Amino acid sequence: MTAAATAFAQAAQERQAELDELRRAARALADRFDAAYWRACDKDATYPWDFVRAFAAAGWLGLLVPEAYGGMGLGVTEAAVLLHEIGASGAGMSGASAIHFYVFPPQPLLRHGSEAMKRRWLPALARGELLMAFGVTEPTAGSDTSRIRTRARKQGDRWIVDGQKVWTTNAQHAQKILLLARTSPRDAQRPLDGMTLFFADLDRRRCDVRAIDKLGRAAVDSNEVFIDGLEVAEEDVVGEVGRGFEYLVDGLNPERIVLGMEGVGIGRAALGHAARYAQQRIVFDRPIGQNQAVAHPLAECWLRLEAAEAIALKAAALFDAGRPCGAEANAAKYLGAEAGWAACDQAMQTFGGFGYSKAYPIERLWREVRLLRLAPISQEMVLNFIAAKCLGLPKSY
Ligand SMILES: Cc1cc2nc3c(=O)[nH]c(=O)nc-3n(C[C@H](O)[C@H](O)[C@H](O)COP(=O)(O)OP(=O)(O)OC[C@H]3O[C@@H](n4cnc5c(N)ncnc54)[C@H](O)[C@@H]3O)c2cc1C
Repeated sequence: MTAAATAFAQAAQERQAELDELRRAARALADRFDAAYWRACDKDATYPWDFVRAFAAAGWLGLLVPEAYGGMGLGVTEAAVLLHEIGASGAGMSGASAIHFYVFPPQPLLRHGSEAMKRRWLPALARGELLMAFGVTEPTAGSDTSRIRTRARKQGDRWIVDGQKVWTTNAQHAQKILLLARTSPRDAQRPLDGMTLFFADLDRRRCDVRAIDKLGRAAVDSNEVFIDGLEVAEEDVVGEVGRGFEYLVDGLNPERIVLGMEGVGIGRAALGHAARYAQQRIVFDRPIGQNQAVAHPLAECWLRLEAAEAIALKAAALFDAGRPCGAEANAAKYLGAEAGWAACDQAMQTFGGFGYSKAYPIERLWREVRLLRLAPISQEMVLNFIAAKCLGLPKSY
């Protein structure tokens, strides 16, 4: 080996050792919260505060926040590994979303916020002292964000916001909301211009927050938010007026990579349960896992999870190296969601009737992982992106 090749191999080994250490530390912390904890959070729809506080105390919430603002200043690869371990611990989307919401929604502030905004809010977010919500989706616009109707108008030195958001995670407890609103009318030539991001106080006198009763992830609330005359100070505008959508798009690739890894982790948790059950459950005088009808689909899930992880880590490495990664990041989200869902669904099948019982964690993981195929972007929208950007087909969105 040449000296350059040796140095390269050594650097790769050191990097691997660093990630393994991170993986072990994150998993040890996540493992302190067992299936009974998550079952209770799900049953009673209680926010997993103890879990969040444990990750805050270890500094993980500020993973992507630069050290100058009280964070760890790490990269997307580390975030992907962290969220994978949370998923793989059995925390499901209840745990993954609770941590995810400290790591990704603040990204527009970090990249485009004023210095004063960053100094004021990022350290509090990194310490877990500030909970934020993310208000983009609206009932009548759906995936076509250019159609949002929430509006902000300038009145003196303040902005006044009126409108409605839906599916707003965390709005039951959040102190702040990153809110996308139209600040100039939709222009058919440039439909995504003219929207602005506000880091607004979630003032309950002006925002009526109503929880949505939903299929899974009851621990982390989702809400309708009716906004009537919410006042936002000029200093709470993120970046430039009219460029809010552009700022959101900026942070999509890293988020998609990490969402893919959440799916992989949750799929692995379910697959682990299924494999153990298939060894122990005796029917017709043999372990059910001896039947290839049971074993092969589980083996296939294993393969799919490995492949999804590989593309996610590739995308993360590209992003961290400052290289384009749009196709890989979207592939990571799509394949991680599919592989996670397939593994949870196959685990349900492996458990037979007992998969339907809440005594086992499988049904919760199955309900929760389904979300990744729908949100924050649907699988169809990912395929639209790949068709247009990678295959040159006409844009359909
Ligand atoms: C639990 C949960 C939490 C969420 N948290 C948040 C949050 O915190 N903040 C926030 O802003 N949003 C949040 N969302 C909203 C989420 O991002 C949206 O639900 C998602 O983007 C899909 O939008 P929609 O539900 O309006 O679906 P629609 O846009 O109405 O789409 C419906 C179906 O049609 C398909 N479709 C639409 N257009 C096309 C097309 N051109 N080509 C192919 N297929 C198409 C979609 O893929 C989908 O399958 C959350 C959603 C859920 C379920």
